[in-house]
Parts: sequence; structure tokens; C-alpha cells
Amino acid sequence: MDFLFSEEQKLLKESIRNFAEKEILPFVREWDEQGAWPQDLTAKLGEMGLLGIIIPPEYGGAGYSNVDYVLILEELSKIDPAVGLVVAAHNSLCANHINLFGDEAQKKKYLTRLATGETLGAWGLTEAGAGSDAAALKTKAVKKGNKYILNGSKLFITNGSVAEILVVMAVTDPTQGRKGISAFIIEKDMPGFRPGKKEDKLGIRAADTAELIFEDVEVPAGNLIGEEGKGYRQAMGILDGGRVSIAAFSLGIAAGALEMSLKYAREREQFNQPIANFQAIQWMLADGFTELEAARLLTYRAAFLEDQGKKIPKESAMAKLYASELAVRASSMAVQIHGGYGFTKDYLVEKFYRDCKLATIGEGTSEIQRWIIAHRILQEF
Ligand SMILES: Cc1cc2nc3c(=O)[nH]c(=O)nc-3n(C[C@H](O)[C@H](O)[C@H](O)COP(=O)(O)OP(=O)(O)OC[C@H]3O[C@@H](n4cnc5c(N)ncnc54)[C@H](O)[C@@H]3O)c2cc1C
Repeated sequence: MDFLFSEEQKLLKESIRNFAEKEILPFVREWDEQGAWPQDLTAKLGEMGLLGIIIPPEYGGAGYSNVDYVLILEELSKIDPAVGLVVAAHNSLCANHINLFGDEAQKKKYLTRLATGETLGAWGLTEAGAGSDAAALKTKAVKKGNKYILNGSKLFITNGSVAEILVVMAVTDPTQGRKGISAFIIEKDMPGFRPGKKEDKLGIRAADTAELIFEDVEVPAGNLIGEEGKGYRQAMGILDGGRVSIAAFSLGIAAGALEMSLKYAREREQFNQPIANFQAIQWMLADGFTELEAARLLTYRAAFLEDQGKKIPKESAMAKLYASELAVRASSMAVQIHGGYGFTKDYLVEKFYRDCKLATIGEGTSEIQRWIIAHRILQEF
């Protein structure tokens, strides 16, 4: 066992930190207020290899490990969780779906464009009536000759109105339940497809979240990913990795909020001394930093196991559950430590407090993570 980062990983962490401080930090407030994805950031993320992090170099990716990926997402999310989420959804959900389950032609045509940062990708599973119960989705794909005709809509899709390549789950055989769901690659300019309502959100406002609408979209049969009926199973495998990325996003929020609080507690004086002298503040920091290390152990372990080719439904659910709930606790603690100032836009802890909540909802709520964990441990023991 080894709990230390290699020299390469330390350098990687530093380079991501430098990039985020230069290209993201100065604009965090502006992007949050505008509530729109800054399009020019896509190319910059692409140049840094951040849109093909875990994609093999033969498809234009950076070929990093999942452990490296966690490290990158933690650093990005520490500066702006909205950017962390966009990078996570692009890499773990859209690009990795094609990477793991696509054929050679699909990888050459679509994965390279995604991995080199030519465009952002999106991944659509959720619908108005199918959230936690994702298998209840109703979007239909009917085969006609060498095409599928898609009709339906998706909700809450990250990068939904900015992505040019999208992976979407649809029902190909309504008699087969979850075994009748298939995955397709959609291009933004396919006639009949359009992004719908763009959500105006509490947090992670710079990340685009939109509805997807399909009206008689003709999708070539060559855009079916893998076999018909395998889409739901593929999606569940993709979410195992996706949950590690949400755990890493949560680590960034918790670390960012706690580091800002530590600095503030040393600087802010009340009763003629820094508030860091008070035990009440010290205990909040002690609990927060201890739980952050515990969340890191769960998250890096899940990523490590993924790198070993292990199946990680329980491990990723545990990492996501613990790290996301910590992100909420740590952000709340950070606002408390900042007192009234934490409640204003003068300090970024206010933004962490809004951004963190998505972590306990996206890619399966905390209740669904507990359900997955309980199901697994009841099987195992
Ligand atoms: C900003 C944002 C970005 C997103 N990005 C994407 C994306 O890129 N792609 C995508 O496909 N989806 C995306 N989603 C959707 C997200 O995954 C869903 O919102 C989430 O899975 C919950 O579904 P729901 O919102 O329908 O809530 P519901 O399923 O309606 O849940 C409502 C409440 O009921 C609880 N609940 C439901 N079922 C049970 C149960 N069996 N036991 C106990 N409690 C239960 C839930 O935990 C929750 O507290 C995104 C959502 C948001 C907000």
C-alpha cells in the first residue's frame, strides 16, 4: 500500500492549481452571476488535456489514471466547482461511455473530438418521470431500416445546450423493461434535436444544465453503442465511475471551504485575539479536516480499484455518499466560521455553500447511494 503521491502527481496537482488560479479564479464570480458556461474555457480545458483525462492517447486523450483524475477534479473544484462538474460530466459520463462501450469507428469519429476539446459532451439518462428510477425512462428509439427514430425528452442534462456530441439512453423494446434500453450517440445538428429549457440554478451556475428534446430525430444505426438492450447496464457501469468523479468534486468543495476558513480564522480578531484561538472554532476545523481525509481515503481507494479493473458499485457509492455529505457540512461550517461576512458575496464560502448541494443529488441522491450500499452489504455478508 502507498498513501503518497508520486513526483509526477505532485507536479500534475501544481500545474492544475496554476491553471485554475490563472484561467478560472479571476472569473468565478462573473460566471456564477451570468449563469452561463464561458465558451472560451472549453478550448483552454482542451489544451490542458482536461477534456480527455482518462481517454487513451490514441483517441487524443491524456491517458491519465483514475487516481490522477480524482486529483485533477479536486484541484479544479477547489477553485470553481462549476468547472469541476462540467469536466466530470464530460469525461466520466459522455466520453467514457464511448471509450468503454463504443466501437472503433465511433471512437475515431466522436471520442477524438471530445478528448481533444473540440466540443463538450453531454450524457442524458434523466427524464421528467425518471430520476432516481432511471429505468422508467420513456424516450423511444424505433428502428426503421438503417436508422433509429428518436422521440422524447431528457431533463437536467449537464452541458445539454452547449455539447455538440451527446450520449443518450432510449427505449428500443418497451416489453423488456431495463433490458429494452439502448444507448445512442447524438450530434447536436441532427434535424429534430434541440436543447430545451435551460435551468436557472441555486449553485454551480456556470455549468450548463438543460433539457434535451427529440422530435423524430433520425439517428444512423451505426450510432447505437454496443448492442440493443445493453444501454441501461452500460449506464449503471458509467455511473460507478461517475460517482467517483462527484466524490472528487465534493473533495474540492470541502477542501476549498476548509482552507479558506483556516485562513480566515487566523486573520479575524474578536475579543482582542484571532478567532482561531477559540476552541469552538478549532473543533469545527479539526472535525472538518479529519472528515476530509476520511473522504479522500474512500475516494482515492475507489479510483485505485477502478484502475485495477475492479467493479466498484459499493466503493463508489460509499465515496460519493460520504464526500458529498461532507461537502455540505464543511461548506456550512465555513460560512459559520466567516460569520456575517460568510453570508455575503465578499467571500467565496457563500458560493461553496450553494454549489455543494448538487453533490448529494446528481448521479444518484444520498438516499439512492445508501440503497446501493445496503443492497451490496446484504448480499456480501
Ligand atoms: C445540476 C444537475 C445536473 C445534472 N446532470 C445530469 C446529467 O448530466 N445527466 C443526467 O442524466 N442527469 C443529470 N441530473 C439528474 C440527476 O441525476 C437527478 O436529479 C437525480 O438522479 C435525482 O432524480 P430526481 O431529481 O428526479 O429526484 P427524485 O428521484 O424525484 O427524488 C426526489 C427525492 O426522493 C428520494 N427518493 C427517490 N426514490 C427513493 C427511494 N427508492 N428510496 C428513498 N428515497 C427515494 C430522493 O433521494 C430525493 O430525496 C442532474 C441534476 C442536476 C440538479
